[in-house]
Amino acid sequence: MRIKQLPPKLVNQIAAGEVIERPSSVVKELLENSIDAGSTRVEIDIEQGGVKLIRIRDNGCGMSRDELPLALDRHATSKIASLDDLESVRTMGFRGEALPSIASVSQLTVTSKGENEEQAWSIKADGSEKVPDISPASHPHGTTIEIRDLFFNVPARRKFMKTERTEFNHIDTLVKRIALSTPHLGITLRNNGKVVSQLRAADRREEMEKRVASLCGPAFMEQCLYVDHEAAGLKLRGWVGLPTFSRSQADLQYFFVNGRIVRDRLVTHAVKQGYQDVMYHGRHPAYVLHLDIDPKLVDVNAHPTKYEVRFRESRMVHSFLFSTLNKLLADTKAGSNEAGAARNAELHQLGQQYQVSSRLSAFGAGVMQQSPMGLQDGGMGVSESTPAYQSTFSSNNDRGGYQASSAQMVQVNAAAQEQGHDHPLGYALAQLHGLYVIAQNQQGMIIVDTHAAHERVTYEKLKTAYEQQGIQAQPLLVPAGIAVSEKEADTAEQHAEAFAQLGFELTRNAPESLLIRQIPVLLGNGDAETLVRDVLADLIAHGSSERIKEAVNEVLSTMACHGSVRANRQLSLPEMNALLREMEATERSGQCNHGRPTWTQLTVDQLDKLFMRGQ
Ligand code: ADP
Ligand code: MG
Repeated sequence: MRIKQLPPKLVNQIAAGEVIERPSSVVKELLENSIDAGSTRVEIDIEQGGVKLIRIRDNGCGMSRDELPLALDRHATSKIASLDDLESVRTMGFRGEALPSIASVSQLTVTSKGENEEQAWSIKADGSEKVPDISPASHPHGTTIEIRDLFFNVPARRKFMKTERTEFNHIDTLVKRIALSTPHLGITLRNNGKVVSQLRAADRREEMEKRVASLCGPAFMEQCLYVDHEAAGLKLRGWVGLPTFSRSQADLQYFFVNGRIVRDRLVTHAVKQGYQDVMYHGRHPAYVLHLDIDPKLVDVNAHPTKYEVRFRESRMVHSFLFSTLNKLLADTKAGSNEAGAARNAELHQLGQQYQVSSRLSAFGAGVMQQSPMGLQDGGMGVSESTPAYQSTFSSNNDRGGYQASSAQMVQVNAAAQEQGHDHPLGYALAQLHGLYVIAQNQQGMIIVDTHAAHERVTYEKLKTAYEQQGIQAQPLLVPAGIAVSEKEADTAEQHAEAFAQLGFELTRNAPESLLIRQIPVLLGNGDAETLVRDVLADLIAHGSSERIKEAVNEVLSTMACHGSVRANRQLSLPEMNALLREMEATERSGQCNHGRPTWTQLTVDQLDKLFMRGQ
């Protein structure tokens, strides 16, 4: 066989094999072009799952007569002109491949009227090499692209097409994703002439939240936190589900980098780490997140469909995502997300004050003291200044040991009511079957899982105390040798300081061997070797590791569990109130150590409905 040049049509068909997997890939390419053209409205028409017809009309910048044949040419694009442009590209497209690829496997018509044009023009391509005809047309400013009989000349691809229903579902999912990525775009989607979805352009946050609710379900919107954080030139905006709104599948996770959806291991890992300590084991978080980053710091030219990206500063991105979400989720205090409070930026700031007050709590000889709480605070009933009561907890106390002086507590209640002040979790009325605290707040009734709540409060205290005391390390009598790769040994040396801060001492005794000389006392019974290996793997992949902290937390969590109020122990009212106040002040107290919710609210409205009052 001799080498020969392939004809252009075949070249395009080969390219189409990469970019156009199924009808929804065509819709993706066309919508991205409409977005790049600055459109604010698109109308999508689909027939027979997109195999018979895909038509997309937009109100973007359009094209002039001369540009039309170029749009269908391979490697012709208006989006970049140089390598410099490529390295800072902001548009979705830049390869100039989509339209010629699509044209090579379908009947394609482009009709367009450019911004400053008097006349609209239409061009038809049938994938052949002859110069396509251009004819005058009638069209408002913008572009309509019509694709008929997709894959009519590629029998192999046709065979892989699924049912009309399945192909349409793929298109529907894709449109949903674009709708999340580009809120300012109004979208109408019709299937066989019937409107399937109609989304109005959203510019303000409320409108965006309506759109997110309609695409991800209202339950997600009700149980999520809003994030808007900027640091070191990175900006993260969006909505993350509360830990208790976890999913069995990773099916509600949308991450956009400069408006482009990406599936990226670094991102997934960083977000998952953000949920560490609050997510039920084996569950998946839900999120819609937009990362804005200088386009120079991200390489989008890693894959033809551009679902993968490469971050130039991957460690910085990882640590930014992790720390932003970790901090946000630490604020999931019981009571704080009621009435959308958690999605309120002001409350977020209040949350910062809480963190200060919980850090002030003292720890000594197995007895922890509740940080002082006062009542002058405007929103949530916690301030740092006035000590109102104290509760003590002893982790060795079999009876649970949750105590507060009743005289003090009565004072608190009286003072609070006098000031017309309402705690988010209200005031305790009774305990049910030794399991649930029933309380009353302004909205109605609060039910608290006593054990779960106490477990989290205790756990958070143990963690704070652990950090404050400084890590206690214990030298190994016989250092444990582990065989590692040279790269792992290098990494261990580079991060020696970080290991030391966590209680580990590692030394290198050969190019491919490490000695573990010292470990944290708390991990005395664990498998230090596996832990060190996993940490090294993390460090190499992500530049950071939370594993040692996680292992320590696991031990603390078990301690908290054993030390917490057991089921069936009757608490006194002051004890219950003390627990409620501590929940309000404790980070992550909205869910127990295992990610289950610790409390719930039944409003008077909901109770009225139960009894069909006022209907
Ligand atoms: P790319 O998007 O990578 O540039 P395409 O093949 O998708 O390549 O499109 C080629 C060119 O056609 C684009 O660069 C753009 O100038 C033009 N074009 C395509 N679709 C539209 C549209 N909807 N509105 C305006 N111009 C368009
Ligand atoms: Mg394109």
